[in-house]
Amino acid sequence: MTKGRIFSGMQPSGKFHLGNYFGALENWVRLQHEYECYFSIVDLHALTSSYEDTKKLPENIQNMALDWLSGGLDPEKNIIFVQSHVKEHAELHLLLSMITPLGWLERVPTYKDKLQQLGQLNTYGFLGYPVLMTADILLYKADTVPVGEDQLPHLELAREMVRRFNNMYTDIFPEPQARLSQAKLLPGIDGRKMSKSYGNEIPFAASPDELRAKVRLMVTDPQRVKKTDCGNPDVCTVFAFHKIFNSGEVAEIDAQCRSASIGCVDCKKRLAEHMVTALADNHARRQALENNPGRIKEILVYGAERARTVAAATMAEVRDAMHL
Ligand code: SF4
Repeated sequence: MTKGRIFSGMQPSGKFHLGNYFGALENWVRLQHEYECYFSIVDLHALTSSYEDTKKLPENIQNMALDWLSGGLDPEKNIIFVQSHVKEHAELHLLLSMITPLGWLERVPTYKDKLQQLGQLNTYGFLGYPVLMTADILLYKADTVPVGEDQLPHLELAREMVRRFNNMYTDIFPEPQARLSQAKLLPGIDGRKMSKSYGNEIPFAASPDELRAKVRLMVTDPQRVKKTDCGNPDVCTVFAFHKIFNSGEVAEIDAQCRSASIGCVDCKKRLAEHMVTALADNHARRQALENNPGRIKEILVYGAERARTVAAATMAEVRDAMHL
């Protein structure tokens, strides 16, 4: 049976934290065994909203590739590349923009919301973001796109564009289907959503000792003042992490917390060691890559070459269909 084909991308916007890892990358690592995957660092998308200061882009791209590879994406199994290294993305974006009615783009909910939040995004590139996203997917004729619920309108728009192109010219593109991802939600160490802007994140690159230090700072049940007080794991950040990193002992810790037979210090130590073990492979891969600085560049060059071959073949069909 032929494998389905996935395209997915992430904007290079700084180093990952554990919330980013569990929010998307962990899912990709699973998908790479089921699909033929194109994973792209979408730097052109980053320009649709952060176009003024681009000096940090090369560093952010390097860090994102390091995070992906450390997280377990296999550069042989997948095609891993930087979007702007394959110029066909820009070309297909331009051609699709010719056939996309303005009203389709203006009614995308995220466009309206973001425009209200950040008025300065009133640019052509930002409005055309979903066209670029559609070009990314169609260039590789991906039939599956892993998305969260909030991105479903973008994908619906991509399907509308496929139907319009196929009807108007030649039936070239498959209609991409959504594969809804079930991301694990990891709170920050203060119990709020994990976010760099709150300063409550655990870096994905954290060493074992840094992980232990972060766990020591986690907030617990605020009502549990003394070790002899019974706790409530349902309101404890440490417990939320146990559920993800130590699922086999969750029932035991729940009971021990409620009966005050474990103290928070010991509970945190147990969690920290489980986290260190669970992330040991990521840590080892990161160290190997950091010791071999040229390796990431090689992987991205290799990925772009493989992506370009497929993209160029698609563009030949598109130009033919459009009599260009
Ligand atoms: Fe949280 Fe564990 Fe303390 Fe209970 S014992 S409050 S689960 S850290």
